[in-house]
Amino acid sequence: MTQGTAQVLAGPPAAAALLDEARRRAARLPHPPHLALVRVGEDPASVSYVRGKAKKASEVGLSSHVHALPGDTTQADLLALIGTLNADPAVSGILVQLPLPAHLDPAPVLLAVHPAKDVDGLHPANTGALWNAHEGLRPCTPAGIMALLAHHGVPVRGARVVVVGRSALVGRPVAGLLLNADATVTLAHRATPDLGAVTRGADILIVAAGQAHLITPDMVRPGATVVDVGINRVPTEDGKGRLTGDVHPDVAHVAGALTPVPGGVGPMTVAQLLMNTVIAAERQHAQTEVTGELVR
Ligand code: ADP
Repeated sequence: MTQGTAQVLAGPPAAAALLDEARRRAARLPHPPHLALVRVGEDPASVSYVRGKAKKASEVGLSSHVHALPGDTTQADLLALIGTLNADPAVSGILVQLPLPAHLDPAPVLLAVHPAKDVDGLHPANTGALWNAHEGLRPCTPAGIMALLAHHGVPVRGARVVVVGRSALVGRPVAGLLLNADATVTLAHRATPDLGAVTRGADILIVAAGQAHLITPDMVRPGATVVDVGINRVPTEDGKGRLTGDVHPDVAHVAGALTPVPGGVGPMTVAQLLMNTVIAAERQHAQTEVTGELVR
């Protein structure tokens, strides 16, 4: 059997296109959109993610501010800050970096963010809007996946798409976006028997299971498009570890197109966050033009 090599669905050029659009649209607004980044404590990964988001924001002409709260911040103080940011007309978008320290409950915090400023798209008002195909802010990684497919010309309408994973962050919302884009969607998860039989039916296979190399070549229909959302750190001999996806590298010999890890879906997430901030600012601007204030 001759083995092909899948087309690489690279994230960086698709992310650059999204960032260009965000920059162009931001420049058309009377004020630069403003992103409020809230983080609690000094978790090194969170510090670095938030720094990266602020840096990318300034690259596309957005303003941002990092609200760095001490690790012992109370739930009440965190909610008070979010209330202040909700009420501040200069703030377009609010992102609360997760995970929060263990003594804080993330659910009421995410509920407190005004849906019109919820640039993570995780407020139930926005997840409900997504599921009903109403206007709202869409979660960043799922919307980034849709932008990645569109950028590389992968048609979604009518396609048989299998999503492996049903998390609130990726699996569920990407299924909603695909459905809204007229795909034929199957959601598989931990309790799905004979996963390979399901995934082999996919024209487009999206994997967000958090299991290194869960998807092996025998589970992929030849020529299928495979989107690997997994970021797993696996040990290496030098002790540093390396990042690998939920899809086995040999799938490249079967798939028609495949996203690399890293350098596939990853760069889309931050780009979409900034796009969401611009979208939020545009809608707030349009609304204040009509009503004189942001309707709450
Ligand atoms: P993420 O944040 O990347 O979406 P989560 O760890 O929150 O990932 O969710 C993992 C999802 O993957 C769950 O919905 C789970 O049912 C699914 N999953 C995990 N392991 C398997 C497996 N072996 N087979 C099928 N689905 C799996």
